[in-house]
Amino acid sequence: MSASVIDFIATEARFGARNYEPIGVVLSRGEGVWVWDTEGNRYLDCLSAYSAVSQGHCHPKILAAMVEQAHRLTLTSRAFHNDQLALFYEEIAALTGSHKVLPMNSGAEAVESAIKSVRKWGYEVKGVPDGQAEIIVCANNFHGRTLGVVGFSTDPETRGHFGPFAPGFKVIPFGDAPALAGAITPNTVAFLVEPIQGEAGVVIPPAGYFTEVRELCTANNVMLVLDEIQTGLGRTGKLLAEQHEGIEADVTLLGKALSGGFYPVSAVLSNNDVLGTLRPGQHGSTFGGNPLACAVARVAMRVLVEEGMIENAARQGARFLEGLKDIRANTIREVRGRGLMLAVELHPEAGRARRYCEALQAKGILAKDTHEHTIRIAPPLVITSDQVDWALERFAAILTQDFS
Ligand SMILES: *Cc1c(COP(=O)(O)O)cnc(C)c1O
Repeated sequence: MSASVIDFIATEARFGARNYEPIGVVLSRGEGVWVWDTEGNRYLDCLSAYSAVSQGHCHPKILAAMVEQAHRLTLTSRAFHNDQLALFYEEIAALTGSHKVLPMNSGAEAVESAIKSVRKWGYEVKGVPDGQAEIIVCANNFHGRTLGVVGFSTDPETRGHFGPFAPGFKVIPFGDAPALAGAITPNTVAFLVEPIQGEAGVVIPPAGYFTEVRELCTANNVMLVLDEIQTGLGRTGKLLAEQHEGIEADVTLLGKALSGGFYPVSAVLSNNDVLGTLRPGQHGSTFGGNPLACAVARVAMRVLVEEGMIENAARQGARFLEGLKDIRANTIREVRGRGLMLAVELHPEAGRARRYCEALQAKGILAKDTHEHTIRIAPPLVITSDQVDWALERFAAILTQDFS
């Protein structure tokens, strides 16, 4: 490593809160599926900023829209109207088939906003006694880092020593419809769940699970809130992961790729009167729905569709998955994925996934471990067959080594 690389890393470590443990690479440029470090080494990005850069790094059309809008108007607050918000609403509603939209910034804010909205709906529409609303969530969930959200995490790292937490959440196992049936009470307002648990290691529920979940929620007048912040917008090979299950959520949360990685933009979408319970002054965000965010998100959504990225995610995801399954290595316990949301789970005896990610870095691939033994793979949705094959060669070379 050159002096400058050591300096960036050491300076971060000296001044920054140590809440991350990055792989030892300092990136300074990106284009499409590729990123370059400060020394000019090129890497295939197999993380895409946790699926936020689905459209590829520095997508030229999103960049142009951002620069153009930044010259005109960036922030008005919601105290006034702006000429981008209505167009953003219209386009996101048309794309997703939603009726109401609430724009926010980070994913965690969208989750918090959904929790507030379904509780309000519970009191004002469903008739739950005030202060009694219950929300059911799943074990090993990941919905963000705010206090409200980490309070119903089951990961000791995520919640440890951050309490006390807000009550009103019930945790059930993921993928277990009878557990949901058993947990619902007359005070249950919502079931909040990821279609595929991303941070837990790309955990795909059993076939038919969401059909049962949908039926249970409908039968009990419980809002099904799907957190599609990671799975949404083409990542799994469909616009929304719910489409694999043939169901529709009552409330859908989007974030991450909604801006193609340029800007924090998230949204709560609902196809009923959940968002209708919010009245002026009851919820808000200084930056939520700002014209720069809206202009960026409008193009980020448009290029996903116009440039065939969703179909490409399905096609290249299948190729990547097959290729990973063909790797004969006794380090591999399981390979799983849907679209370009993939994971290789290593045998515990094979050593920490982190070691494999560091070895992949040396071969020109950036991937990230999740938990001790899983390598997560989520390249931008613009990846080509040749690039998938190039990556597979390198995965095969690394996975057949033993870092235990
Ligand atoms: C990333 C993520 C979030 C949180 O988004 P932030 O923008 O980091 O707040 C919430 N839910 C899921 C499923 C995510 O993957």
